Amino acid sequence: MPELPEVEVTRRALAPYLEGFTVQAVRVRDRRLRWPVPARLGQTLAGRPLLALDRRAKYLLWRFDHGTLISHLGMSGSWRLHLEGAPRPGAHDHADIEFAAATGARRIARLTDPRRFGALLWHPSRRGDLARHPLLAHLGLEPFDPRFDAAYLHAATRGRRTAIKQVLLSGAVVVGVGNIYASECLFRAQIHPMMAASRLGLARCERLVPAVRAVLAEAIEAGGSTLRNFIGADGSPGYFTAVGAQVYDRAGLACKVCGTPIRRLLQGQRATFFCPHCQRR
Ligand SMILES: [Zn+2]
Repeated sequence: MPELPEVEVTRRALAPYLEGFTVQAVRVRDRRLRWPVPARLGQTLAGRPLLALDRRAKYLLWRFDHGTLISHLGMSGSWRLHLEGAPRPGAHDHADIEFAAATGARRIARLTDPRRFGALLWHPSRRGDLARHPLLAHLGLEPFDPRFDAAYLHAATRGRRTAIKQVLLSGAVVVGVGNIYASECLFRAQIHPMMAASRLGLARCERLVPAVRAVLAEAIEAGGSTLRNFIGADGSPGYFTAVGAQVYDRAGLACKVCGTPIRRLLQGQRATFFCPHCQRR
């Protein structure tokens, strides 16, 4: 499942090729994604230049002067860029956005999504601030936002008696910490995943913030080596979440720090991995 690092790498791969280019056409072959793709998306976007390709949590925000196209990769989606005409679309290639530059250069961004949990939605500027869109309004801070610091994390976890792992996963305090990353961040910060979030002291918050940033930054960096896979028909954008995991999926194996066997437990039906010696409540 694509997580924040995959979405950020997708953004970095596509942005330099598409920003400033004008939409020529939108071809939607199957509108039945998680929500129906707007029927008039082609008319809405044709002739409009893409001002910027941004990201908020796992949403890509395609900024135009009259609104924003919001896309999400769902469980299995990916974007691929074709610079000289796209090959015949396959069964899961649900949408193409065709761009052109003043020079005549053409670029096609193609959305592939076998399980169709992804999204392609239009938010016109006249409907108001994008930050208040129902999909975005309740998101926590971005992990690389300077406002995400120990004091914020401490304040935001007061009164939250659920386990810190669950609070991270919820995205309500900070976005982007998916299931694998939650285990990795907590191991790095030496925090027990079952610890009630409300019991996190300032010292633990001071360890967790940089741990979240480091784990996500490393995943994005690892994904950076796959940038070329987004262009053309060769290779696969792929997902790269488990690279270099310290605890994730290592149940029974020795902790890389202290040698104690890593344990696995279930929290809200999701597997958590931790070192019972390094990570304390
Ligand atoms: Zn350990």
